[in-house]
Amino acid sequence: MAAEKTTAIILRTSAFGDTSSVVTIYCRDFGKLRALAKGAWRPKSGFDGALDLLSTGQVLVLRKSSGGLDLLTEASLESRFRVGTSLTAVLGGLHVAELLDALTADADPQPELFDVAHATVRRLSAWSGDDSPVTALLVWFEFALLRITGHGPVLSRCAECHGPLRATGRTAFGMLDGGTLCDGCRGGRRGVVSVSAPALAALRLLADRRVSPDDVPLPAAVAGEVRGIMTTLLSHLLGRPLRVPAALSRGGRRLRHT
Ligand SMILES: [Zn+2]
Repeated sequence: MAAEKTTAIILRTSAFGDTSSVVTIYCRDFGKLRALAKGAWRPKSGFDGALDLLSTGQVLVLRKSSGGLDLLTEASLESRFRVGTSLTAVLGGLHVAELLDALTADADPQPELFDVAHATVRRLSAWSGDDSPVTALLVWFEFALLRITGHGPVLSRCAECHGPLRATGRTAFGMLDGGTLCDGCRGGRRGVVSVSAPALAALRLLADRRVSPDDVPLPAAVAGEVRGIMTTLLSHLLGRPLRVPAALSRGGRRLRHT
């Protein structure tokens, strides 16, 4: 079988034997794959820095027809994820990798999702200066991921009866119900949180694919609430806590380079 070429983001690597790696990659043309990179850890291996976490580059993959690992025969680095001055941005990159790994099926190509993830990782790489826009960028990515994988929440009407939402004040959001709930439907349900009007407005903007996250500035209180809602929603979807957001929500920390 001929090797196939595509662009990929490195999501995870683990040692295999003394010198090889098993890498989880998200490919533009093939979706998520797990592949063996033979000799990846040898000095002067042909993979060099191309298999570092969150690196992007061209890969050559020999696909297995059934079961087993694919074989990564070549990888050439296009861009490496660089640590800038923001710990929040580094954690954000790890969060993107965790979500792509956890919420996509194997070998299910979604080029649009690849492009959104690639753009997000490139923005987070070498981040310097004010890191408050990182929250909007990550939530924008999360909504794109949820939409493309068929899990996008309803935010403009009642997810249960499709009726109108309360016009003012706080709105109920059902984590197990797929979005916002009207007053008639919210009673007696599990996993319902109450969302402030500014946070709901921000969520609607960031869920809208026509809106750039750069155009959604989030005051600190709204950013904290929005981050909490998305973390809870994603954890319900995965059935387990996410690894990174607990650290992300403490946010605003800066890396010191000596
Ligand atoms: Zn309802």
